[in-house]
Amino acid sequence: MENKEKQPLVQVKHLCKYFKVGRHADLKAVDDVSFDIYKGETVGLVGESGCGKSTTGRCMIRLYEPTKGEVIYDGKDITKLSKAEQKEFCRKVQMIFQNPYASLNSRMTVKEIVGEGLKQHGVPKNEIDKRVQALLETVGLNKDHMSRFPHEFSGGQRQRIGIARALSVDPEFIICDEPISALDVSIQAQVINMLKDLQEERGLTYLFVAHDLSVVKYISDRVVVMYLGMVVEQAETEELYSNPQHPYTKALLSAIPEADPDKAKANRRIPIKGEIPSPINPKQCCRFAERCEYATDRCFNEVPELREVCPGHKVACHLMDEK
Ligand code: SF4
Repeated sequence: MENKEKQPLVQVKHLCKYFKVGRHADLKAVDDVSFDIYKGETVGLVGESGCGKSTTGRCMIRLYEPTKGEVIYDGKDITKLSKAEQKEFCRKVQMIFQNPYASLNSRMTVKEIVGEGLKQHGVPKNEIDKRVQALLETVGLNKDHMSRFPHEFSGGQRQRIGIARALSVDPEFIICDEPISALDVSIQAQVINMLKDLQEERGLTYLFVAHDLSVVKYISDRVVVMYLGMVVEQAETEELYSNPQHPYTKALLSAIPEADPDKAKANRRIPIKGEIPSPINPKQCCRFAERCEYATDRCFNEVPELREVCPGHKVACHLMDEK
């Protein structure tokens, strides 16, 4: 990808987010996570629920303050912005939330919800109506919807309102936090295609947080796989799906349903034994060790480093040392 030569738009560097859950207990939701996002691309951040992917996204928009590490946006550490820079950051970086039922204020009309950001960023009152109407049309709604309340809409329509709200301040970078997982399957493709079209029209950059690997494959240029607070593998989408290296990624990919019956027969589903261990005070070892069919003593005693195994493809697994 030619944009590798350029400066990333977003750099997540050794990001950690710990939550205190007792006097001597930290829930390490995100633990030393690093990856970059280049302008105009979509990075998929995937893993099972509880792996820290949403917490990572929330740290990147400052809904959570990182415990350690940095998030650099357009060359600047987002925790060290001046007031004016902070305001601009809030405009440039938006989020689309997982639950379109909970993320819209039920007491506000659609016009108020979508127009709120415009008001905050100083758009004159007489302009707001026009802008809200145009935004609703962009996401497949219309001006008749402006005076209605969220409960009058379906899940898919509510997510469209959430997208119009995110677009209202003309952002550069949108964190899509499981934007389709609460929607009916029939609506999911519409929302994904709309996000893709908007990206092309507006030159948007996305972080697409999801647990559904087939959706991530469709929308992402690169994919970062997380397990229990850490990155285990990252690569360009085609490379990751055709040549996965980490045992966890291989197991996740083997679970994707295959539409072609011949291919489905040939594919062996790799089971992952047991449950995700607790992220509270995790041991200094490979966090996947208890569930990995290849685990050795070393895996239970040493954290594998995330290292590049071929250009742009990084893996955190001791098995890579044998290659
Ligand atoms: Fe499995 Fe060991 Fe690799 Fe962890 S480091 S994924 S336990 S082989």
